Amino acid sequence: MDKFMHQAYEQAKRGQHEGNLPVGSVVVNGGIVIGEGRNRQHQTSDPTTHAELEAIRDASSRTDGKDIIGIFSGATCYTTMMPCPMCAGAIIRFGFTRVVVAEAHSYADSGTKPLMERQGITVDVQKDEQCIELVEAYLKTHPHLSTTMKSPKPTDLKL
Ligand SMILES: [Zn+2]
Repeated sequence: MDKFMHQAYEQAKRGQHEGNLPVGSVVVNGGIVIGEGRNRQHQTSDPTTHAELEAIRDASSRTDGKDIIGIFSGATCYTTMMPCPMCAGAIIRFGFTRVVVAEAHSYADSGTKPLMERQGITVDVQKDEQCIELVEAYLKTHPHLSTTMKSPKPTDLKL
């Protein structure tokens, strides 16, 4: 696990301690972290507070309102889990060129990998055992989520 994914992993663990599905993300551009985030749905009751969107919000908030979209041009999103369709849409919309995914085991079949690749985004899947174990352990104690995440049919994108 490189330093950027490690930072995303630490965000995921922080999110878990706050009562959320453990997913963490960092946005990197020009070799530096410009934003970080974690799943915060439990404490916000906001279904859009996924790790990737939170990292995007964090990066934009650091600009003081200047160039809130341009900062993502050519950026890389490091994320501990394969992005969902909502987050993949933001990644496409804001000009990211690369997504590094620690694990696509828990949420592999949503169709977002080919969706992003068709937009010219490089998607690197690392099969990181630590991130797989983190999510699998969480899903054992939250079996209702496991059913939703392991069943590709309701969320499969029609490509
Ligand atoms: Zn998402």
